[in-house]
Amino acid sequence: MSFLTSKSYNPGDVIYEEKPFIRVLKRDLWDKICAGCCAKSTGLKKCSGCSVMKYCGKSCQKNDWPDHKLECPYLRNYTDFRNKDIVHMIGKLILKLKGKDWKTAASRIFDVEVSFDDLLSQADHGLQNLSFEVLDITTSLESYIGKENVPDKEILKELYGKVTNNSFEFYGGKYPFGNGFENIFGKDHRAMTIKGGSALFLGASKLDHSCVPNAVYHPTGASITVRAIRTIKKFEKVTVPYTNMITNADAPLVHEYVTKFKFREKCYCSDCSQVPGESKLTKILDASKAFGVILETDMALQLPSMLPINYPNPIVDREYLKHLLKRQDKALGRTHLRRMQTLAKLYSPEQPELSKEEMRAGIVELTECMKEVFGEYHPELALYYRSLANINMQLGNEKEAREYCFKVSRLEYVNYGAFFHGEGWEDTLSENQFRHFMEKRS
Ligand SMILES: [Zn+2]
Ligand SMILES: [Zn+2]
Ligand SMILES: [Zn+2]
Repeated sequence: MSFLTSKSYNPGDVIYEEKPFIRVLKRDLWDKICAGCCAKSTGLKKCSGCSVMKYCGKSCQKNDWPDHKLECPYLRNYTDFRNKDIVHMIGKLILKLKGKDWKTAASRIFDVEVSFDDLLSQADHGLQNLSFEVLDITTSLESYIGKENVPDKEILKELYGKVTNNSFEFYGGKYPFGNGFENIFGKDHRAMTIKGGSALFLGASKLDHSCVPNAVYHPTGASITVRAIRTIKKFEKVTVPYTNMITNADAPLVHEYVTKFKFREKCYCSDCSQVPGESKLTKILDASKAFGVILETDMALQLPSMLPINYPNPIVDREYLKHLLKRQDKALGRTHLRRMQTLAKLYSPEQPELSKEEMRAGIVELTECMKEVFGEYHPELALYYRSLANINMQLGNEKEAREYCFKVSRLEYVNYGAFFHGEGWEDTLSENQFRHFMEKRS
């Protein structure tokens, strides 16, 4: 679906905001965060109906009641099933949709109405049969909401497919990273990777991917916000990134993920709509060398994702990557996706044996390429700006370190409408160092 803006936007402007169609908190967090506002609270009070869900106060409980009243009578039957979170989500959804027409529009995005029926499922596209997945949750669902409420296998497949393909995972608290504001785990940096729960947003799940997006989405338990990261003109199509382009562990699979997994035959972004070999991300300088170099890069970058999950993280040899980069430089454009992914792998912080100066030069090169393609506020730049702040500080370049801190802050503000000083900076800058820099600036 295409969503065209009716006005223009600047980076950081909120384009669209939507409340969840349905939302569940992760089971492990039921005692830690409020089921209404999803924030951490110490004085949580139990719902007197189920004695399971907890709220920080009357108003949170009241706001959540239209949804919670559906599951409230059944929660006493909920035990820690296998796949407990998906059982919880699908159980709640079944109760919410009971006796309703799936086509009844439930959300508007710009001028388009989106219903639950409009959501795509991998089963719709014959990509996955889902019989096994559905069999796996049926017994649990029956003991949770009762046999009489569980729909037949085909409907269950459709529900399962729509949910797993369109759910957004949100982080506990109000912001995506641990941040010292409303972080459920206090100042523990692990909060960066601990999910608060999942939610379905009907309108936002219809936004198209672009390899060079002009917006980003930011889901929390309470809402999803879409913010501009580039200047967007009136009647321009709004696009978001479905996945990381540079830092993805499955780097070469990025396009496959975007097109096949999300069921777009191709990507319609400005870059992909050009003849392959011509755009910034695909630029080829020497066609006779490019094919072999791309193939070899794919192998090198894909290696970690092809190994069993518990296999020790393989060290991709740095000398080999450097050699590969030299060959890329003769065949591929400077901002070719594979070249940037190779730079990201070569200068990733988990491979620390390069000298600080070499690391800094490599990451600066990468961020310049990324800026050229994606613009100044692309979310993936944050990681590299943090590394540069850290390296510069270790090298005694306090002024440069400070500048990179500001770049991160500005980027976070454009992406999320908030700053996340300190948290998650353990491997880059400590919170105190960051505050020190911020104070010096003001
Ligand atoms: Zn609350
Ligand atoms: Zn209840
Ligand atoms: Zn694309």
